Amino acid sequence: MPSVALALGSNVGDRLATLQGALDDLAMVPGLDLDHVSSVYQTAPVGGPEQDDFLNAVVVGSTTLEPLALLAATQGVENRWHRTRDVHWGPRTLDIDILAFGADRVDLPGLVVPHPRAHERGFVLVPWAEVAPQQEVVGHGLVAALAGAVGSDGVQPTTHHLTIRGEG
Ligand code: AMP
Repeated sequence: MPSVALALGSNVGDRLATLQGALDDLAMVPGLDLDHVSSVYQTAPVGGPEQDDFLNAVVVGSTTLEPLALLAATQGVENRWHRTRDVHWGPRTLDIDILAFGADRVDLPGLVVPHPRAHERGFVLVPWAEVAPQQEVVGHGLVAALAGAVGSDGVQPTTHHLTIRGEG
């Protein structure tokens, strides 16, 4: 089964409850197995209008789903949490990005994997390095090395933890 890495972020409302709820929903997706989830980081928004800090985490696992079916599933979870798309790069209740899909490159309308900006974002790389340091970001290098290069400015550890429960 291809391995997958998903980034979760929230900066509106009860951010921690949203991340845990999203993780619970993802755990229920048939064909998606979640193995490890990073701790929760508080991160300064990158780009977009002035907005609150995010909570971010990365979850890794494996899937039997095709890439577009996985995207449909993650977008279904986003929608369940009332994600608003009004402002580009603006506040969002829940954002889920597909960071990696096995060793594959995916370049389809609506889905590019590895996520085109994942390799340069501390808020993605720092939590990702916690759970999958040796994963390769195709075309860019290992997660741990990329995280070290980008550094952790604006990415603060928190004492919050998410729990993987349920089954997909
Ligand atoms: P954003 O508002 O930045 O979260 O972008 C959402 C859009 O990005 C959606 O329409 C997706 O189809 C598209 N997209 C492209 N590649 C990815 C990816 N790897 N993970 C999640 N969404 C993606």
